[in-house]
Amino acid sequence: MAELEAVIGLEIHVQLSTRTKMFCGCELSFGDQPNVHTCPVCLAHPGVLPAPNEEAIRYALQIAVALECEVAPRSIFHRKNYFYPDNPKAYQISQYDIPLATGGRLDDIRIHRVHLEEDAAKMIHVGESGRIHGSGASLVDFNRGGTPLVEIVTEPDLRSAAEASEWARLLRTTVRQLGVSDVNMEEGSLRCDANVSVRPAGSEELGVKTELKNMNSFRFLERGIEAELARQQELIGAGAAVVQETLHFDPRGVTLTSLRSKEEAHDYRYFPEPDLVPLAPTEQMLHEARGSLPELPAARIERYREEMGLPPEAAAQLAADPEAAVYFERAAGAAAGVEPRVVANWVTGELAAALRQEGGEAGATGSKVEPEALAALVVMVQEKRISHGSGKTVLAALVAEGGEPGAIVEREGLAQISDSGELEAIVATAVDANPEAAAQIRAGNGRAIGAIVGAVMRETKGRADGAEVNRLIRDRLGV
Ligand code: ADP
Ligand code: MG
Ligand code: ZN
Repeated sequence: MAELEAVIGLEIHVQLSTRTKMFCGCELSFGDQPNVHTCPVCLAHPGVLPAPNEEAIRYALQIAVALECEVAPRSIFHRKNYFYPDNPKAYQISQYDIPLATGGRLDDIRIHRVHLEEDAAKMIHVGESGRIHGSGASLVDFNRGGTPLVEIVTEPDLRSAAEASEWARLLRTTVRQLGVSDVNMEEGSLRCDANVSVRPAGSEELGVKTELKNMNSFRFLERGIEAELARQQELIGAGAAVVQETLHFDPRGVTLTSLRSKEEAHDYRYFPEPDLVPLAPTEQMLHEARGSLPELPAARIERYREEMGLPPEAAAQLAADPEAAVYFERAAGAAAGVEPRVVANWVTGELAAALRQEGGEAGATGSKVEPEALAALVVMVQEKRISHGSGKTVLAALVAEGGEPGAIVEREGLAQISDSGELEAIVATAVDANPEAAAQIRAGNGRAIGAIVGAVMRETKGRADGAEVNRLIRDRLGV
């Protein structure tokens, strides 16, 4: 059988972190007492009228331009009708045939559309729900109802579960960088549905897809897609057909259960919302949205790789977090004569480890280690004024108390032994004190050198250059 290729498209909902809801003045909240942020508009009392939230429109435009979309001159709000207790109006105000924006891209994944809508209320199922005479019940918290959402829909351009979750992470860091959402998957301010199909490799046609709903972490997203791809491949391998449906992925059992057969657009009886005029952004609004764009992670990753020579993982890691990026750039700028790659290594490696050790959650930016201090430290290690091991000691001191690495080196007597006569004498003593190891090294067991290197390092309190110590030991043993 021909090899099968995965085809994946994502639909992502982002809750905007505006002060108030999409069409009323209720405050947004997370974790407050249930049903305290409500009003006649978001509870759908008769006769009320929606009033669009200007801040939400501004945020949505920022997302649209960040994703390089074309913003529609006039987009239309529609009513998407459905009956469910999370939806007191019995319709959701969303956008349908003319969304806010279309045709963008992030990295090399095309964006199909970006539109604005309102969130539903939150349902909490307790006990044995779903049984007519059972003890179960469902509770509704209307605090969330009416929260502004931006929905981002990709083209089916993703080709593996790993690529999909990696891209979703990039989207999250991009939206976070804009400062328009908390983008927290556990709290539901970022929600991701995956559309999954397979087709013979090289085919242009799309296979029948299924939709995986609301995976609440990137890991589950990846595992859910993997499980669904495996299921579809097995079906097709057995000569059966994939049925279009909506599935729920349970990460504990790695199972997929069918929620419903796929609904069609006509099931929702979309029609234009008669209480809202079309959304027609002015030139000024677009200009402001474009002007507000910071350097976005995708561009920053590229700059770190192309201009600063960072390896891909370090570039992605540092660019993902705007604060880490600023920190790294300040340190790299201050570390005269040191390649940014080396500074990046210290930031993502030794510094991160030292901060973890200290139990600090704040990250480099919130720590006592000024980027200029880290730079000075890296320069000293690079110039072999202190050993790498002493560098770690200095870093631990910087994490604990801040200050200048030069002063710490002096205070702790960590300056590297530069007098080769002194180091040679210490090596000679160490070799004599470890005759067994010396014999093993002579016999060709290279690893035995560790014992002698260790003895030298203890004697010098780590102030010797490891490579130099190795060289001197070998010299002395004539190997
Ligand atoms: P629907 O009408 O079922 O909502 P759309 O055409 O609106 O489908 O697409 C929804 C999402 O599904 C988009 O992200 C799109 O890229 C993706 N998609 C569409 N067809 C396929 C397919 N055959 N395989 C995988 N993803 C698909
Ligand atoms: Mg759709
Ligand atoms: Zn309200």
